[in-house]
Amino acid sequence: MVDRMLRGEMRDAVRERAEQMTRIRLDSMALSDLELIASGALSPLTGFMRKADYERCVDEMRLSNGVLWSMPVTLAVDQDVAVDIEEGQEIALCEDDRVLAMMEVAEKFPYDRKIKRHEAQEVYRTTEETHPGVAQLYRRGDVVLGGDIWLVDWSTAMKTEFPELRHTPAQTRRMFARRGWRSVVGFQTRNPIHRAHEYLQKTALEIVDGLFIHPLVGETKEGDIPADVRIASYQTILRDYYPVDRVLLGVFPAAMRYAGPREALFHAIARKNYGCTHFIVGRDHAGVGDYYGTYDAQDIFDQFPSEDIGIVPFKFEYAFFCKKCGGVVSAKTCPHDQEDWIYLSGTQVREMLRRGEMLPEEFTRPEVAKVLLEGMRDCE
Ligand SMILES: [Zn+2]
Repeated sequence: MVDRMLRGEMRDAVRERAEQMTRIRLDSMALSDLELIASGALSPLTGFMRKADYERCVDEMRLSNGVLWSMPVTLAVDQDVAVDIEEGQEIALCEDDRVLAMMEVAEKFPYDRKIKRHEAQEVYRTTEETHPGVAQLYRRGDVVLGGDIWLVDWSTAMKTEFPELRHTPAQTRRMFARRGWRSVVGFQTRNPIHRAHEYLQKTALEIVDGLFIHPLVGETKEGDIPADVRIASYQTILRDYYPVDRVLLGVFPAAMRYAGPREALFHAIARKNYGCTHFIVGRDHAGVGDYYGTYDAQDIFDQFPSEDIGIVPFKFEYAFFCKKCGGVVSAKTCPHDQEDWIYLSGTQVREMLRRGEMLPEEFTRPEVAKVLLEGMRDCE
């Protein structure tokens, strides 16, 4: 496992040296990526991608050494910043003015419109700016700096946002082992917990030893429910409805890219690093709008040999409450018509919460609905 967090005297020495280095101010995605790299969540990456890794990742979903890797992880800076940085130089990566990490710039290469459009087409399957991930890509700087990083200080988010749930991969692996879990299923989400999720999680838990609920808390697009409200919904339901010795809640500090299938694979590989053996992949995992087909995020796992992926996907259908069945089911298990199903889209949920309406009990447990209502009220 990669561990790029310096400690003790080593850290003090590098931090002091970094004070004299050229400073790069990181955007929120780069801050998330830095934390993920440093903690080993993106093993085997030891820094931001160099050109050979970047290009092969975009074109073939592999690193230059052949390891399966579906999402580019780049550090993009503006031309006027890059002009003063040379290959071989050490630079300081900062959150505002505070030094967080040192980077050895191994390579500097262009990230112009043409290259970004190619990445957009290959990775996001569209070049349209209406796609939030593509829009974000186009907004980034025109030069990429690639090279290894060493973390010397925690970001503000690492210190203040869910520090007690921000387990590193080394920590979760130890926690799983201590609990005696030999198989663990990871659950990624950027939504509050509804009964459909509970159904998927518990169905998976019938098969494996442990469940690792790992909501993403890095940057999401406008309109998504804030991370603190989502986490509160999880803590509420875990207390009363989950077996405490078989479930672990942690937070995944990644930013959302909305790259659908490619990101589903990325999410799975990161969870393998956290020690999961299985990973729940829903329909349209990490998708947005109509950019991806219903099963694309599940089918991408079939494009590679399972030993290259190294984690087993549990592919699930949408789940919902069926009035005739009298419980949560899926299209795979329920023979009834859609009119018997109680299902709300994310947009419908947000609109109801905004209007102050309680969500139907069949859709969300009342304890959770209450947390969401109160949380959304505080956001207004
Ligand atoms: Zn039914």
